[in-house]
Amino acid sequence: MNIYSSIRDLRGVGPKTAETLEKCCIFSIIDLLLYFPRDYEMISACDSLQGDKNYGKVIIKCEVVRIEKDIRTKSGKVLTTIVFSDGNSEFKGKWFNQPYIKNYYRLNKEYTLMGKLQEFRGEIILSNPTLVKEKVNISTEEKIIPKYPLRSGITNNLMIKLISQVLQEVEIEENLPMWIINKYKLCSLDTAMRIIHSPKSSEELHEASKRLKFQELFTYSLKILMLKDYLNKNKNGISFKIHEELKMLKEQLPYALTKAQSRVVRQILVDQKKGIPMNRLVQGDVGSGKTIVALISIFNVIKNGYQGVMMAPTEILATQHYLEAEKLFKDFNINIRLLCGSTTVKNKEKIKQGLKDGEIDLVIGTHALIEDDVEFMNLGMVITDEQHRFGVAQRSRLSNKGKNIDTLVMTATPIPRTLSLYLYGDLDVSIIDELPPGRQIIDTYYINKAGKDRVYNFALEEIKKGRQVYVVCPLVEENEELKLSSVENLYSELKEKYFQDTEIEILHGKMSPKLKDEIMNRFKRGETKIIVSTTVIEVGINVPNATLMIIENAERFGLAQLHQLRGRVGRGKHKSYCILIADVKNDIIRRRMEIMKSSNDGFFIAEQDLKIRGSGEIFGVRQHGESSLILSDVIDDIELLKLANLEAKRLIESNIENDIKVKEEILRKIEQSSRFICFN
Ligand code: ADP
Ligand code: MG
Repeated sequence: MNIYSSIRDLRGVGPKTAETLEKCCIFSIIDLLLYFPRDYEMISACDSLQGDKNYGKVIIKCEVVRIEKDIRTKSGKVLTTIVFSDGNSEFKGKWFNQPYIKNYYRLNKEYTLMGKLQEFRGEIILSNPTLVKEKVNISTEEKIIPKYPLRSGITNNLMIKLISQVLQEVEIEENLPMWIINKYKLCSLDTAMRIIHSPKSSEELHEASKRLKFQELFTYSLKILMLKDYLNKNKNGISFKIHEELKMLKEQLPYALTKAQSRVVRQILVDQKKGIPMNRLVQGDVGSGKTIVALISIFNVIKNGYQGVMMAPTEILATQHYLEAEKLFKDFNINIRLLCGSTTVKNKEKIKQGLKDGEIDLVIGTHALIEDDVEFMNLGMVITDEQHRFGVAQRSRLSNKGKNIDTLVMTATPIPRTLSLYLYGDLDVSIIDELPPGRQIIDTYYINKAGKDRVYNFALEEIKKGRQVYVVCPLVEENEELKLSSVENLYSELKEKYFQDTEIEILHGKMSPKLKDEIMNRFKRGETKIIVSTTVIEVGINVPNATLMIIENAERFGLAQLHQLRGRVGRGKHKSYCILIADVKNDIIRRRMEIMKSSNDGFFIAEQDLKIRGSGEIFGVRQHGESSLILSDVIDDIELLKLANLEAKRLIESNIENDIKVKEEILRKIEQSSRFICFN
C-alpha cells in the first residue's frame, strides 16, 4: 500500500464506508491523511480525587459501587446515577435521558471512563461519562484525542481507526528541500503527519503543526510567485490601444472622477496597452465608485473592437450596473445586454446568438453568464464585481471564455496593505482610497437592547420624513440557545409593536432569487418603507432614499461586515445613521463597537478588526469554505508566512538540481489548473 492507494483497499472499509468517505472527497490514502483534525480534546489522567477541585475533562479508572434508581427531574428528564470508586473516594456518574446506560455496567467491575469531573454541592460528579474501550496508558500525563470534522456520516471513531491503521502501514516521503528543514529545525513530514493525527503531548503537537503550516504557506507562496512569473511570461495578451473616444466619454461623465479613481483608471489602461494579460484587483471601500472605473476600462476594450463581460453576484446588482452602463454609453453606439437567471428563454437565446456573432459588445449579468453555451466571438475583458462572492472555479470559467484576455476583479472587502502583498502576490492591486466629494459621514451609535424602543421610534420619525429603513439581523431560524433574534421573529415583533401602519417586508437568503429581487425592487421604488433582512442586502445595493441602518445583535458580526452594511445608507443627499443594537457584555465587544462609532474608514476598520479577530471572518473564508489554506491562519501565522514567502523566493532563484525538480512539479500543476488563484 502507498499513499495513492484507494481507500477501498483498506481493511475494514466496505462499500458503504467507502461511499461515506468518498462523499467527503476522501478517495485515496493521502486524502485520508490530509483530513486533519479540526481540534483536539485534552484529557488529563485523574489518579486521585483528593485535593484537586478543578478537575475538568478527565479519564479515570474506577469500579462500580452502586447503581441508583433513576430519577425524573422537574424538567421531565430521566436522570441515571451510578456511584463509582477510584479505590479511595467515591464519585457519581450521571447521565440524562439514557436509562439504558445502566445495562453497560456491572457491580464491582472495573471500567475506564472519560468525562467532565466537577464538584457540585459537596459531591464529585462525572457528567455524561463515556466508556473508554481502547487500552490507554493512564500513567501518561494527558491524553489528546483528535476531533475530526464530521460531515455526512463520518464519525470520529471511524477516522481514528482508519488513520491509525494507515499510519502503521505507510511511510510518507519528505517533500521540503533539506536546507529548509535544517534551517528551521522542522520535523520530517512523516513525523508531522503521525503527530497531527495522534499527538502524545501539546509540545509535540505544536512542532508538528508548525511544520505542516510552514509547508502549506511555503507551497502557497511558491504557487503565487510562480504563477505571477508564468503570467508575466505570457506575452500573448491583447495589446489594446488607448482609443480616442475615451476622451469624449470622460468629458461626458456625470461627475468628475476622484483622484483615486483617475489613478486606478490609468493603471488599468497601462495594463491594457501591454501585451501581457491583465490580472488586476481593484479594492475600494463601499461607495468609492468602482463601477464607473470598471465601465471606463471596459469601454476602451470595446472601442478596440473586442467584447466585454461583467459579472455581479445578484440580479439587482447586475441590473444596477446595466442601467448605469446604458446611461453612460448612450451616445457611443455600444450594444449592451443584461443576462440573468430570470431572463426569458427566448431572450437568452437571442443574447447568446448575439454574443457568438459579435453583434453584442457588452453583456452584464449574474452566474447565468458562466453557462457553457454562452460563447463570445472575441472576448477581450472580464470584470467580476464583489469578487469574494464567487468561487474560484466560477471566475476562471468566465475568464476561459476568451483567450489571454484581461481580467479585472473588484472587491469592497478591504485587505490591509501589509497582507495583500502576500495574499495577492499573483494579482496587481489597485486601491481606490478616496470617497467622492460631498459624501456625508454616517453617524453611528451603539445601544443596548434596553434602548430598542427609542431606536424604532426614531425609525418611525425617519419614515414620516419620507425616508426608508433597513433592519438587519444575523440568523434566519430561531436559535433558542443563542437567543438571537431571528429575522422572522423580529419581523413579526416589529410589525406588531411599531409598524402596524407602515409597509414593512422581510427578506432572507432562503428565498428564491426572483422573490428577493421583487422585494428589493419594491424597496427601491419606495413602496416598502422598512426591510427586515439577513445580510443578503450586504453587497452593492443602492437606495439613496434609505437613511437608517439598524443592526440587531451587532456583536455577532465582523467589523468589516458591519461596515459593508452601514454602506447601504448615506448614499443620497439626506443625513444618514447607523444604529448598532448590541449586547455589550465584554470589553472586546465594546472596543469593536467604539471602532464602528468612531471610524468610517473601511481600511482602518479592517486593520483594527484583524487585531481583535482572526482573518477568517474578515475574508469570509470560513463561511465560504474556499480558502486554499487548511491549517494556517494568515493573521495568526503572519510571521511564518513571511518566512515561507522568503524561502519560496529563494527556491525560485535556486539552481540546485533537486530544487529545480520541485519547481517543475509545481509549475506543471499550475499550468494544469485554472489561470489564477484568488482568495476570498
Ligand atoms: P462601489 O465602489 O461601492 O461599487 P459605486 O460604484 O456603486 O460604489 O458608486 C457609488 C455611488 O457613487 C454611485 O451612485 C456613483 O454614481 C457615485 N459616484 C461614483 N464616483 C463618483 C464621483 N467621482 N463623484 C460623485 N459621485 C460618484
Ligand atoms: Mg459596487
